Amino acid sequence: MYLTIIIVPVLALLSYFVWASACIGSGRYVRCICRFNESERIFLSFDDGPHPERTSQILDILAQHHIQATFFLIGANAQKHQEIVRRIAREGHNIGNHSYTHSGFLPLKRSSRLIEEIDATSNLLETITGRPVEWYRPPFGVTNPMTGKALRCTGLKAIGWSIRTFDTVSLIPRKWIARSVERQLKPGAIILLHDRCRDSDILLEMIIKKIKDKGWSI
Ligand SMILES: [Zn+2]
Repeated sequence: MYLTIIIVPVLALLSYFVWASACIGSGRYVRCICRFNESERIFLSFDDGPHPERTSQILDILAQHHIQATFFLIGANAQKHQEIVRRIAREGHNIGNHSYTHSGFLPLKRSSRLIEEIDATSNLLETITGRPVEWYRPPFGVTNPMTGKALRCTGLKAIGWSIRTFDTVSLIPRKWIARSVERQLKPGAIILLHDRCRDSDILLEMIIKKIKDKGWSI
């Protein structure tokens, strides 16, 4: 009986903290924009690039459709593929910060380490493009007190998404993903995609068609 009185609140508290960290829109530690409520448009975002081949394919498609998107770049990838970073900027897309290493352990690191990663990435991107970086997308969508402190120190704004496509799961047919995106579309929606994924170009074409069929601009 006494054990239950202790265990239930502890489990409830733990569940709350896990949810607050894992759900990017929870707002518990970081105020994160997950949708542009005032906008009638749909916003496309691509994480984890630049990829040596696939990012260029995505850029080709965006150019064909006259669409601007936002690329949240990993610093280490940007260092290796600087010409692609320059092309992203030259073609008018937004560039955001997605950490330097995107390490799986990043959510467990101290804020000082996170600040180092964010600053190194912002400095690199600003050197390559000549444009200031204003936005940060937390890797894995995880936010915690360390993320909050790092963002206060670096002055970047956090941005999430309202539609998670799960395009990194290669087993899910791309048609299913496009249909799921279509069902979730609302004005102001921010769609999370990854330009590093296989068939990311095919998926992008499908999603653009779904959005245009509904008469919305991107
Ligand atoms: Zn990522």
